[in-house]
Amino acid sequence: MIIVCSNCQKNHNIDESKIPDQPVRIKCKTCGHSFRFDKSSPGSDDKPGGAKPVVRRIGVCLSKGGVGKTTTAVNVAAGLSLAG
Ligand SMILES: [Zn+2]
Repeated sequence: MIIVCSNCQKNHNIDESKIPDQPVRIKCKTCGHSFRFDKSSPGSDDKPGGAKPVVRRIGVCLSKGGVGKTTTAVNVAAGLSLAG
């Protein structure tokens, strides 16, 4: 599970089995900021801008026609959707 620090925006990849089901306080190893994290409702925090779900942008950048931009985009989207 990836948890984003609400202070420095650093991504922390934490083994989900090590996170208890009840809300916990997590301390960022990078900046030392301490914030509340609730595994059952990601995005909740005691302050706005807390632990957020990770958002990624993937671009398919080829200017020529007929090189598979749409096919690539559709298949990447389908693969990510199936992966969760
Ligand atoms: Zn931090």
